[in-house]
Amino acid sequence: MTQHFDVLIVGAGSAGSVLASRLSEDAACLVGVVEAGGIPADPDIADPLKWPALQDRDFDWAYRTVPQKFTAGRVHEWPRGRIVGGSSCLHAMAHVRGHPRDFDSWAKAGGERWSYEGLLAGFERSERLTGHRGTADCGEGPLDVYLPDQEVSPVVRAYMAAGNALGVPALDHHNAGELIGTSQNSLTIRNGRRLSVADAYLTPEVLARPNLTLLTGHEIEHLELDGQRAVAAICVAGAATRRISADRIVLSAGAVSSPLILMRSGIGDPEVLRGAGIACTSERREIGANLQDHLLALGNVYRSKRPVPPSRLQHSESLMYLDSADFSRASGQPDIVLACVVAPSAAAGLEAPPYGQAFTILCGVTHPTSRGSIRPSGPGRADRPVIDPQYLGTEDDRHLFRVALRAARTVGNHAALDDWREEEVLPGPGVRSDAEIDAFIARAASTHHHPAGTCRMGRDAGAVVDRDLKVNGFDNLFVVDASVFPALPSGPINAAVVAVAETWAAAQR
Ligand SMILES: Cc1cc2nc3c(=O)[nH]c(=O)nc-3n(C[C@H](O)[C@H](O)[C@H](O)COP(=O)(O)OP(=O)(O)OC[C@H]3O[C@@H](n4cnc5c(N)ncnc54)[C@H](O)[C@@H]3O)c2cc1C
Repeated sequence: MTQHFDVLIVGAGSAGSVLASRLSEDAACLVGVVEAGGIPADPDIADPLKWPALQDRDFDWAYRTVPQKFTAGRVHEWPRGRIVGGSSCLHAMAHVRGHPRDFDSWAKAGGERWSYEGLLAGFERSERLTGHRGTADCGEGPLDVYLPDQEVSPVVRAYMAAGNALGVPALDHHNAGELIGTSQNSLTIRNGRRLSVADAYLTPEVLARPNLTLLTGHEIEHLELDGQRAVAAICVAGAATRRISADRIVLSAGAVSSPLILMRSGIGDPEVLRGAGIACTSERREIGANLQDHLLALGNVYRSKRPVPPSRLQHSESLMYLDSADFSRASGQPDIVLACVVAPSAAAGLEAPPYGQAFTILCGVTHPTSRGSIRPSGPGRADRPVIDPQYLGTEDDRHLFRVALRAARTVGNHAALDDWREEEVLPGPGVRSDAEIDAFIARAASTHHHPAGTCRMGRDAGAVVDRDLKVNGFDNLFVVDASVFPALPSGPINAAVVAVAETWAAAQR
């Protein structure tokens, strides 16, 4: 049986939820959305404190990387939401637009529409700023961005005070323009509950629109191509295979799945496809390349002198963005980031002495230069992808990570934390030299969960999508999700994914 839509959106995650809602505002446009997962039913998803426990459940794609040479040969777990709301049902809810200058490379790749100034209307259209900001709530967007006040942990306040005493500027919040400084995190939480992008955009009223059809439990196997057109998506729903045709097909399946769907459809690097048993019908060598992700070292753990009150938010309550060369610099892009977790947080396999009550400072690099790739291991959707992020693959990244760990220790050992800190337990006093720190980071570095860039936007012939996010070589096939990022912004990326989808949807009107 074939069903036909004007626009077919593949994936109801962060980007897909925005697109489905905005495109179906035009009652004359017949919009279909296919999502492999189902409607969220597990009550833990809504509880902000439970986000670390959501992984490996049946709504997680639960990807794994290949062993990583520069992280002690470890395999990294990559959770990704397989559910309406996508990864925004699993994420840690921090809302950070990024530094305005992070998007200069986007403007170079795709024009002014993708500069910070070009994306600003998309950010603003999506956001409703709530909570403690000294002013009334502002913005009319569907996505609440909540700035907590009383709930912020006293340990986190002491950590921010330590930063400020070292010269780090105090910010009102992370989305006020400049990013370097201390602030509690702004969170996509409403009335104490996670607000996924689907909660915000695919409300019962939106889903009731007669021109919008959401098909859950439908996993796209591949696209049917005819010359320069993508004519249909072939999907599996239970025991059935269905063909869904559309005038335009938009992949919003995320930075892992969107390139895989293209490659399973015969679009990609001929050698990579041949290795997976797929016939190449359209050569686009960079699909799946340019993979980027943020890492955080878990972690610089401190035994506490007294009980650490449990978090009333989502455990990791404050990102601190820094210029590592000058903690008092107040403008420009940061190069490292710290985060305070009000609990012990150590990567699996790290040995530490027993420490009882503890808090942790995580650290990372905001603009990693390592680039990896994703490719299929076989022709079908059940063949696990080969994910190789090349973590810490460049000396620049390894050097800056060392600098970031030293910055974490400088903050963690500051007098402002004297009321809490008993002693450092990880990496511990025996880890001082560059080589010792490198060895610790190799075992501690873990994904910050921001894979992006696998269907890179650009003006050059090698780019996967053009400035309109159209797949080069095709007339009606688009990618709109984290895959199209030419480069990572400084912070967590969900806000930018939503702004990209808002901006692309606005351009269709
Ligand atoms: C544990 C975790 C913590 C994170 N923390 C934060 C944070 O605090 N702040 C932040 O900004 N970002 C965070 N992120 C990242 C953020 O959630 C993602 O970058 C963002 O949700 C990506 O949006 P997307 O639309 O590109 O993909 P997704 O939201 O992943 O959506 C892709 C959708 O496509 C569907 N799909 C995939 N393949 C198919 C197929 N073949 N057929 C049909 N459907 C398919 C998926 O099921 C999914 O619903 C976190 C992510 C994780 C996993």
